[in-house]
Amino acid sequence: VTAPALAVHGGAGNVRRERLDAEQERTACAGLLRALHAGLDVLESDGSALDAVESAVSILEDEPFFNAGRGSVLNAEGRVSMDAAIAAGDERRAGAVAGVGRLCNPIRTARRVMEDTPHVLLIGEAAERFALGCGQRLAEPGHFVTAARRDQLERAQQRDRVSLDHDESSRGTVGAVARDSSGHLAAATSTGGMTNQLPGRVGDSPLVGAGTWADDSTCAVSATGHGEAFMRSGFAHEVDARLRLTDTNLVGACERALARVAELGSDGGCIAIAPAGPPVLAFNTSAMFRGWIDSRGEAQIRIFADDAARDADQR
Ligand code: ASP
Repeated sequence: VTAPALAVHGGAGNVRRERLDAEQERTACAGLLRALHAGLDVLESDGSALDAVESAVSILEDEPFFNAGRGSVLNAEGRVSMDAAIAAGDERRAGAVAGVGRLCNPIRTARRVMEDTPHVLLIGEAAERFALGCGQRLAEPGHFVTAARRDQLERAQQRDRVSLDHDESSRGTVGAVARDSSGHLAAATSTGGMTNQLPGRVGDSPLVGAGTWADDSTCAVSATGHGEAFMRSGFAHEVDARLRLTDTNLVGACERALARVAELGSDGGCIAIAPAGPPVLAFNTSAMFRGWIDSRGEAQIRIFADDAARDADQR
């Protein structure tokens, strides 16, 4: 029997402490904690890593603070366009949706794409119709739009830039990785993309091998950051390849893959889990909203890089 392991993230970014007020910090930490507990409940009742990451991520999608589900960032037309992927390490199975605007929990549809279709990725309205056919929850586009995201779009448009959501307001993409007692690995990632992105833009999160990956023999990875650089680095697959083809460990593989993102002038982070050992939470930004279950079975939550010194002994 393998020791179960679990980690979650709520986005990496260059967040300044003073830009995150106490209320926001509480909301973020409470959301991450709820997600961890949901995942842990699954793992402790001998559920699968796949169920654990799906339920953890759907909780973060439901929390408007994060950039996924309701509370997703707005594109240049003021619309929400969400992407999500889930991956199972048993046979490198994967399912994803992209460019959806009406799915309450895109990660649950990604799971259905993986389980119920011969495909990996469905997009746009057709993906929404597929979700409807699976009996999933849909809402009108207005349901997903929050006042905070409207303000953020306005500010980005005044400055005429595409902003990584969390550079501005410190709230990001969400993800989870897990290992269950049978040794299976799984990863899930869900996002609204980047504020003021062009309509039709899809990021790294729903692309298997870029933002999301799972293979039982190497690792499960969920990434966050500047999606274009993660795609151009084949990020999650790069972590996998380093584990398969070199003698690097998981920490080294994540750091080397992030260094390749940095070579492209971008940054971000990831959470990852290997067939044995604690989860790795790596980032080259000033913060990554993150949480994991430590070796004593307790939930740990951190936001800023400065908190990292404490991480090592808590793992
Ligand atoms: N990687 C996401 C994207 O580019 C954004 C993020 O992680 O914040 O769509």
